[in-house]
Amino acid sequence: MKLVLATHNEGKVQELTEMLRSGANTLQHIEVISLKAYPDAPEVVEDGKTYGENAAKKASVIAEWTGHLALADDAGLEVDALHGAPGIHSKRWAGEDATDAIRIAKLLEALEGITDRRARFVAAIAVVNPGSVPKGVLGVCEGYITHTPKGESGFGYDPVFVPDGYDQTFAELGEAVKNQMSHRAKALQQALALL
Ligand code: IMP
Repeated sequence: MKLVLATHNEGKVQELTEMLRSGANTLQHIEVISLKAYPDAPEVVEDGKTYGENAAKKASVIAEWTGHLALADDAGLEVDALHGAPGIHSKRWAGEDATDAIRIAKLLEALEGITDRRARFVAAIAVVNPGSVPKGVLGVCEGYITHTPKGESGFGYDPVFVPDGYDQTFAELGEAVKNQMSHRAKALQQALALL
């Protein structure tokens, strides 16, 4: 069986592929393909009101386009002191062409002088068979935002997010640790049951 990962984000492809590979032996028969194999696949506009809506839309479009089972995710960072922002706008809230460094700088600036640094990553994962209704799950990873970026691994806000139970950022902890308890890992564990 082929499973198309409906994302162009190579960091995510790597993360999801590793999680699927190390996950359950029952899934070893699944051939994981990234969107690299479908360079003409349509761009999906992420205009949903929830992570779940966006994930379902991405997976549905790619399942129809490729004719294979598709898996998509949509995630964001929710910061309590910012009333849940950047949330569903996590990618674009510092502008369309912003880099991770710019997004992080904006976040740290918004939190300057604020002691309540509670935050969480939330991820929705949808899986869709061509012609079927999408099935979705949600994963949450609680933690807090640091005052300075630390670490090199991962992507996005990883250098400023410390998950509960640890005193290092996702970027310092590295992929192996992150992939055991991240929002996406928790969502994926549930999604595996849907495959
Ligand atoms: P996406 O729509 O799922 O790609 O996620 C939107 C944005 O949320 C990304 O561009 C990242 O800035 C941020 N994000 C999502 N997941 C993670 C993560 O695991 N680590 C760091 N940042 C993340």
